[in-house]
Amino acid sequence: MNKIDQLKQLRLEEESRLIDAEFVEQCARVVLTDLVSWSNRHVFSKLGGELSIEIPLGAPNAGVKYASIDPPKPVVVIYLSMITDIYRDALTFPSISQRLVGETDTLTALHEEPPWNKLPFAFPSSVPELQPGLVHGDLSPACEMLAARHEERKQSKLDANDVRCRFIMFELMLAWTFFHELGHVLQRHYRLRTTAANQDHADVFLEWPESDETEDSADTGTTEPVQGDLPAQARELMADAEAMDLTLKYMHASGRLCFATLYLLYCSVSCMYQRFYQKYEENLNITKHRHPHPALREQVSEAFLSWSMSDYLVARKLVPDREHAALVVTYITVRANLFVGLFRATRIEARDESSGLPSYMRLQTEAHRADMLRYQDTLMPYIESQMAQVQQWHLLASNRMDEWLEMLKAHQRGRTGGGDASAAT
Ligand SMILES: [Zn+2]
Repeated sequence: MNKIDQLKQLRLEEESRLIDAEFVEQCARVVLTDLVSWSNRHVFSKLGGELSIEIPLGAPNAGVKYASIDPPKPVVVIYLSMITDIYRDALTFPSISQRLVGETDTLTALHEEPPWNKLPFAFPSSVPELQPGLVHGDLSPACEMLAARHEERKQSKLDANDVRCRFIMFELMLAWTFFHELGHVLQRHYRLRTTAANQDHADVFLEWPESDETEDSADTGTTEPVQGDLPAQARELMADAEAMDLTLKYMHASGRLCFATLYLLYCSVSCMYQRFYQKYEENLNITKHRHPHPALREQVSEAFLSWSMSDYLVARKLVPDREHAALVVTYITVRANLFVGLFRATRIEARDESSGLPSYMRLQTEAHRADMLRYQDTLMPYIESQMAQVQQWHLLASNRMDEWLEMLKAHQRGRTGGGDASAAT
């Protein structure tokens, strides 16, 4: 378990108390209303069903329940506390990024290393330049009002760009969370659950049931390897893939998918996974939680995002070829992992001079690569068998899950020398 700094924890709790939950809920409803109508327009109204959203009070969590299975009337549930946690991260990420750039040599050191030292798109500021039009249209008036206030206030360290970054990251994290839940619905995962309790459609199927909280740290008094629910863990990766694809489509459809928002998307997704890390061990052994280790989830999601974006950049002629596209997405990935890793460590982890790399970032290094691949390989058969079923009943005809599976296999073949994985970034 990564060590939590108690003082930092108290500061986070204080921050949460200062957040105006009513304002955050209003902003969230603006974004979620759009996502609900998109889902109904493209999927559920065609089937005579309807998707709706609930924002209850309680511990941070999200999930899905069904008012009806046929026609499908799913209810996506996202707890307000989870939304305010997301907002808190979005609120502070630009400030911490600014401190990392201004008070440390983190970014200078990165940019001095080849190949980044020659790249025109490597940006020296704490966050990329963000035009007002990149913020959700209905949130833009509130955002620009706050931005103007910061610009006018001489003692404010933040500028308009930082405020826009907050709003965009809040939207991206929320959209990703919604689309993850929608992924479970579209892939009809309730059909694949094995226990009777899990098949009660009227119950809300929460991502983090109470029984999931302490499994990893519980002392079982045995040295037997932990046996997790591997089919369930595979389904979480499948929902993550759907979330990644739909978030990209959502940004593209609103004309806001560009270099700057792509960087913030990597940062947002990384913030989400690192949020879950507190429940996990500092190793990549198979966990007993229903979700795989967040470092693995992040690695698989990032690979799909990079794969998708390489295609996108080449297809739109934003780069001359896949090699250049790979450089762009690798820069963004490396930088996002660095900044979010340090962001989390600065705010949560107990650290001193001798700590070295933050705990989560250590799991992303070469030293843990073999464990990471072993974990992924263990889940592959469960992904393949369930995906074969899911593709027979997927609710969205134009999904990219075949492509995602193909990417995973290409990576696997590339490692074992069984084929060309050069396209896989
Ligand atoms: Zn899930």
